[in-house]
Amino acid sequence: MTPPPKLPLARIPTPLERARRSAEALGIDLWIKRDDLTGSALSGNKVRKLEFLLADAQAAGADIVVTCGGEQSNHCRATAIAARRAGMDSLLVLRTADPGAPPAATGNILLDRIAGAEVQWITPQEYARRNELLEERAEDLRSAGRRPYVIPEGGSNALGCWGYACAAAELARDLADLPAAKTTVLYACGSGGTGAGLLLGRALHDLDVTITGVNVCDDADTFRAVIGGLCADFDRDYGTRCAIEPADIEIIDGYVGLGYARSRTEELAELVGLARRDGVILDPVYSGKAFYALTRELKAGRDLGERVVFLHTGGIFGLMRGGGDLPWDELLG
Ligand SMILES: *Cc1c(COP(=O)(O)O)cnc(C)c1O
Repeated sequence: MTPPPKLPLARIPTPLERARRSAEALGIDLWIKRDDLTGSALSGNKVRKLEFLLADAQAAGADIVVTCGGEQSNHCRATAIAARRAGMDSLLVLRTADPGAPPAATGNILLDRIAGAEVQWITPQEYARRNELLEERAEDLRSAGRRPYVIPEGGSNALGCWGYACAAAELARDLADLPAAKTTVLYACGSGGTGAGLLLGRALHDLDVTITGVNVCDDADTFRAVIGGLCADFDRDYGTRCAIEPADIEIIDGYVGLGYARSRTEELAELVGLARRDGVILDPVYSGKAFYALTRELKAGRDLGERVVFLHTGGIFGLMRGGGDLPWDELLG
């Protein structure tokens, strides 16, 4: 199966590195797939999806991409920058509690602004009908003579899934260099495209691992349905027969904590722990929660095999949003 054309935006293959001191501390052979290193400002897991999505946008003759996310969306920041790389504008529809008093330009928002993205703020209620809203915005742009290309939340559609379907082939090559071991690939799940891509890639390539997500919003059943739907769309659109069933999709639930993009002290403490042991810095919204889940699940005796490959999906700018509400003083001593 040949993947669709892509725009080369990601610095890949990314390294697979052993987290030596955390491996000792956790009592497991721990490796980190460094997808935080797919680039600099244009980095993280979304870049792998955007390679395919923006190639499609270019082929369609688009001059502006339209997408949506939370206020500190990594996906929107990556899209705004990737769009510029492809010579396009971007319109970001961002969710915030009070669109009348939008958040300060920090972290990802600052990068959105620097890249010259147009930002429209909407309420969480409006965000519930985001797909319709994106279509309305696209229609407005068409009326104004523009050629918009709509990318759904997280870049998670069948085409975007190619990003991690191809990353699975990359992982198979990485693991071929290591001694055989029962391995779990652990990733943070937010809109489902990374998980769906990995599962599709495992079916398409020779990758003998367990693939387990940690949901950072909603719940496990929601993501089994979302990921199952993305995989079914992929099979339909590309004539594959991966046949990923929702029941076969492994999600560890119970780590949403205070809610999406809200952090607890114990989660940030594990983020600080990994940074101080192995010099790898996670993000608070996704990878930090998934890593916290890993530490708790291992303590509770969950069997994740002999080796864990933790997928670092990026998101560093979420740490730079300003954290007056976060317990950094207490954590950093
Ligand atoms: C978007 C994102 C995820 C979740 O990936 P999905 O494909 O949306 O499930 C994980 N980590 C980071 C840092 C992200 O920005």
